[in-house]
Amino acid sequence: MKRLLPAVVLLITIALSAQELKSPSEFLGYELGTRFTRHHRVVDYYQYLSEAAKDRMQLHEYGKTYEQRPLLLAYISSAANMQNLETIREEHLKSTSSMSKSTKVIVWLSYNVHGNESVSTEASMQTIYELLTNKQAYLENTVVIIDPCINPDGRDRYVNWYNQFKNTPIQLNPESKEHNEGWWSGRSNHYMFDLNRDWAWLTQLESQQRLRYYNKWLPHIHVDFHEQSMDSPYYFAPASEPFHEVITDFQRDFQVTMGKNHAKYFDANGWFYFTKERFDLFYPSYGDTYPTYSGAIGMTYEQGGGGRAGLGVITGNGDTLTLKDRIVHHYTTGISTVEVAASNVTKLNEEFQKFYQPKNYKYKSYILKGPEDHLRALTQLLDQHQLSYSYGTDTNVKGFNYKTGKAGSLRTNSESLIISTNQTRGTLVKVLFEPNARLSDSLTYDITAWSLPYAYGLDAIASESLVSKTSKKEDLSKKEVLSTNTYAFLTDWNGMDDARFLAELLQKKIRVRQAQKAFTLEGNRYESGSLIITKADNDGRKNFTKILSEAAEKHHKSLTAVSSGFVDEGKDFGSSFVLMIPSVKVAVLGGEPTSTLRFGEIWHFFEQQLHYPITVLDENTINGVDLSNYEVLILPGGTGYERFMDTLMLSRLKEWVGQGGRLIVMGKAIASLDGEDGFDISAREEEKDSTENLVQPYENLQREEIKNDITGAIFKTKVDATHPLAFGYKDAYFSLKLSSDSYDYLESGTVAYISKDTLPIAGFAGSEAQKKMAKSLVFGVEKHGKGQVVYMVDNPLFRGFWENGKLFFVNAIFMAK
Ligand SMILES: [Zn+2]
Repeated sequence: MKRLLPAVVLLITIALSAQELKSPSEFLGYELGTRFTRHHRVVDYYQYLSEAAKDRMQLHEYGKTYEQRPLLLAYISSAANMQNLETIREEHLKSTSSMSKSTKVIVWLSYNVHGNESVSTEASMQTIYELLTNKQAYLENTVVIIDPCINPDGRDRYVNWYNQFKNTPIQLNPESKEHNEGWWSGRSNHYMFDLNRDWAWLTQLESQQRLRYYNKWLPHIHVDFHEQSMDSPYYFAPASEPFHEVITDFQRDFQVTMGKNHAKYFDANGWFYFTKERFDLFYPSYGDTYPTYSGAIGMTYEQGGGGRAGLGVITGNGDTLTLKDRIVHHYTTGISTVEVAASNVTKLNEEFQKFYQPKNYKYKSYILKGPEDHLRALTQLLDQHQLSYSYGTDTNVKGFNYKTGKAGSLRTNSESLIISTNQTRGTLVKVLFEPNARLSDSLTYDITAWSLPYAYGLDAIASESLVSKTSKKEDLSKKEVLSTNTYAFLTDWNGMDDARFLAELLQKKIRVRQAQKAFTLEGNRYESGSLIITKADNDGRKNFTKILSEAAEKHHKSLTAVSSGFVDEGKDFGSSFVLMIPSVKVAVLGGEPTSTLRFGEIWHFFEQQLHYPITVLDENTINGVDLSNYEVLILPGGTGYERFMDTLMLSRLKEWVGQGGRLIVMGKAIASLDGEDGFDISAREEEKDSTENLVQPYENLQREEIKNDITGAIFKTKVDATHPLAFGYKDAYFSLKLSSDSYDYLESGTVAYISKDTLPIAGFAGSEAQKKMAKSLVFGVEKHGKGQVVYMVDNPLFRGFWENGKLFFVNAIFMAK
């Protein structure tokens, strides 16, 4: 717990009684809703409240954002409850093992996860003020936890932008600049990640720090406050189908109870709203679903407005929507939520306990085997979710085999990871690990498949019985002291730890070679892609073995020292099949042609995952840049390439590639290279639908259209594992396909591809879209002059969670020519 307030202010405020609490307007010096409040002022107000009402409120800084803004949680309840806050928490958590006598209900309200949905944080201030004053009665049996701003970096980006560009007085015309943010909006966090897609994957600092406290409390109710397009009426629970099958009847019913209470206030005021549409409960990484799968009533509330509405705007209906209107709506549902919670304490406690009773799910154990890095990355995620796991014994396990999609078996040993649904949070285990989540309706808001064994590239069995296990894995790691009298050090290449190890060595000017073919030496087999670090290559490098052993320890690598480069089978170290890995200078295109999300994934990957420098070339400046300064240029996916990729740009890129550059082109950027003057890639047109000539009822239109869609489904692809782009992979790769865009195989260099079998292994793909996938490219390399173009039709960096795809991207950057 961190006190933020200077002592002087404390002395002034300590004298204030509860009745004299300042409202947000009084404290800030302007009427709430007449300006946007910058984050540091919001922090000031919460600090003020925590001192002025210290008997009923505690403020806790739970972390900092990438841009060093504080992240806050405000705990409020009656004075009596606040004295026993820790006891209340502990008693509540006992509910997860059915021993609780808790008589309190925990409500968690999260504001402004999307930074430019800027009403939320303003509304949070009014809500906490009312709860501490006029609505105190609700706090007798309720603990309310308020996160005033999940995404302060994004919110301040919006607020600062708005303040710079707003008209005086404000311009209600939506065409004015103040209503049009442009490419880098405040929606996302620093790295342009959507934090409302990150609850399960925890790739971002904000999510990682928040979840630590969320999981300490596991509230009965969680609300995520949002905004949608400015013409939309308010949305609140109940949510729309599809609902994940683990959601209980009570959770469904209580969403209705909640919605009806909100509707009472909205009806009385004549405000418009809708329920049961658009916002479903399926993809597990949202601020409504993750809490739901953790036993809460998890809900999204959406006000109309968002980044376009500013302080006031004329909507499509010709009405004027003001920030004050937006505040009062979010305030109303916030208070109404606490009201419903406070009047259902017994029921909420009973049902929360029921949620955590053993569920006897079909699959009792998930058994996973694979490279150590992949398993380590997965256990780190499990730790963050407080999911327990153990290791296997020497036995054969039968069940559903993820690789074949059929019944099969797997030999387990002490290296195999075992995750059971017979644990407190077994429901979350089921949701994250089951092979294919049952979809009650294919019209959904997001991806329909995410099964972690595929995402982490592991051999896996889902078993219907409890598998025997040991609790502790033998710790085989030992610090290695590397001898200086060695010919070379060898190590494998199959995961992100290897990639980070390489990235660090290259930056420390250690020269590293890569075996282009498998070899055996001194009794060990090394697959193609293995790293070879010879003494001769690094002869002049001071502290060579020290740097090497420190990097190895840091990245969990074990190095094998060999005394000769004369291999038993394969190619000797001096062969042209053992190539030096280039220390490349990498640039990525940013700006309008790209999607902020796709750009952000790359930016984050380099800085926070690989730890390798990257230069951002903006579309506005790239024309003046000498591309020969870079060995690798990445074009992230995006929909603005048609304008960007004119004849001049295309010929420039062709010339640069011809002279030895490597262009990595991803997703929707690829189509811009197709064409007579372009590269060899060839996009496929949409197949003519045989039913297209039939008259379709208008009401079926949306359902008809999804026949052409893939919104996120897992496909099994074939891999040419001999190609350097596929080093570290075997002959199959499970790819998360995010669109029905499809491209023909390349003449040569087709590395990962779909052949004839186009049925997704998990998730939804429309019937027409599936046909289009036959014989299509997933990853490939086209040679052009001295350089190459790497095509990545699917996005291995999508939301940063598809761990097993990342090495393809690393290979694309570093593979030797
Ligand atoms: Zn939102």
